[in-house]
Parts: sequence; structure tokens; C-alpha cells
Amino acid sequence: MRRAARKLRRLQQDLSRKQRGSNNRKKAVVKVARAHARVADTRRDWLHKLSTTIIRDSQAVYVEDLAVAGLARTKLAKSVHDAGWATFVAMLEYKATRYGRTFARVDRWLPSTRMCSTCGRVGDKLALNIRSWACPCGGVHDRDVNAARNIRAAGRADLNDRGARVRPAPMPAQRGEAVTHRTLTPSGV
Ligand SMILES: [Zn+2]
Repeated sequence: MRRAARKLRRLQQDLSRKQRGSNNRKKAVVKVARAHARVADTRRDWLHKLSTTIIRDSQAVYVEDLAVAGLARTKLAKSVHDAGWATFVAMLEYKATRYGRTFARVDRWLPSTRMCSTCGRVGDKLALNIRSWACPCGGVHDRDVNAARNIRAAGRADLNDRGARVRPAPMPAQRGEAVTHRTLTPSGV
């Protein structure tokens, strides 16, 4: 996709050098439009493939609810926009529904990267170039794997929490009742 984007940029430069109203300019406009469409198609195809694979191969998918608008103003801007994060998450969500998978977003304020997934200690912010780190507890983490573990744990905890609020708490089995099977009376539900 970056390659397609580079080509688009080159064509845009070509276009800017063409004389206004000239035939060559018209041709260059068409080329730029085609390249634009190609970049968009390539991105969409790739996001579709990736989201289908992830949903098909997983029982539950948890995503970090990134503050995309905030990231757009940082060094990560290109990656976030290139990835079309919002589009991608939307694809994951509807495919999860279609395949009957669990899907949830976790709080964007979770310190997923700098929290130790082993002991829960929250360390200092990690510079982007730091790919792995060690916690005082002895845990050695790959930056992304650790973050993914934290996101998964938070997603599960969230779901349990929400489920607990919706469902009545399970009744503890009474002594002597534990082995009997509950029978439904005609009026029973
Ligand atoms: Zn730790």
C-alpha cells in the first residue's frame, strides 16, 4: 500500500507541473484519480482479508479503543491513518457478529504498553523504539505481546463485569440439592 501511495505522490507532482488547461494536464488528472482509487482499494482489500482471518481464527477479539484523533497529531499519525483503524475496527465488529464471536473494545486509558502483564505493575512510559523490556518482578516482555495480554485481560474482565451486572448471581447449591436435577413444573421457566 505504501508503494501505491508513493506512486500517487509522484503522479500528483507530475500533475502540478502541467500547464493549466493543457491536454497533458487532463491526462495527468485521470492518472491521479486512478492512483487514488487504487490506494483506497488496496487498503480495503487488505483490511478485509486481515479482519476475516482474525475473526475466523479467534473465539474472542478485544481491541484497544485508540484515540485516533489524538494520535493523528503525533508521530504515529501515518501508521494510524494508513491502517484505517476506525474502518478496521468496524469490520472486526460486524464480522464478529456474523461469525458469533465475542467482540469488545477496552478503555483507551488502559496503560496497556507499560503495565506488566505478569504482576500488574505500571512502569514509566516506553519510547517507541523500545521493543522489549524487563519488569522488576522478573517478567521479560515483548512490547506488543505484553500490551495484547493486557488488552485481552481487560476485555475479559469488562465482559465478566458487564455480564455480572446483567445476570443474577448464580445461587449456591444447597446441601443435598447439588446432585439432584432440577425438574421443570408446567408453570416453571
Ligand atoms: Zn511485573
